[in-house]
Amino acid sequence: MDLKKHIRDIQDFPKPGIGFKDITTLLINPEAMKEALNQFVDLAKGKGITKVVSMESRGFFFGPMIALEINAGFIPVRKPGKLPAETIAQEYALEYGTDTLEIHKDAIQKGDKVLIHDDVLATGGTAEAVVKLVEAAGGEVVQLDFIIDLTFLNGIDKLKGYQVNSLVQY
Ligand code: 5GP
Repeated sequence: MDLKKHIRDIQDFPKPGIGFKDITTLLINPEAMKEALNQFVDLAKGKGITKVVSMESRGFFFGPMIALEINAGFIPVRKPGKLPAETIAQEYALEYGTDTLEIHKDAIQKGDKVLIHDDVLATGGTAEAVVKLVEAAGGEVVQLDFIIDLTFLNGIDKLKGYQVNSLVQY
């Protein structure tokens, strides 16, 4: 199945000049969703992964599904002030300004083998911040798996030395 057929382009979202890849059209189709999940599971199984870490909020669609299928725990990474217990925070650069992501301090055990998942790899700033959070918490990043890699933004350059997978590329 060609997953690209289930991803639509929305022009000028969230700002004029930006072409946004919309994955809600993939989620609405159970065959496409199952195909994406099967591909993610094939990429992840047999690697001893103990935790799947996903970022708010589009990483939460497939993150828990992947975790269940490979018998790993799921850990959410969230915007500041959303997680109730003690957190580790990581700031990262945006096009204009900065943003921060947080993870529960006690979510990762030392030696945990971690899969990081998000819907889209764009400039790589978000994923780089999550790698830092996982490592600060004592986890080992095994791989990062995305539905989409916007390769023209070279996000992979921020993830040198890590295994990066994507189901479709633009
Ligand atoms: P980056 O930090 O790599 O520049 O941006 C990645 C983050 O922005 C991801 O969390 C992703 O959800 C979001 N993102 C950026 N561009 C798009 C896009 O075209 N489509 C979707 N669905 N998310 C995007």
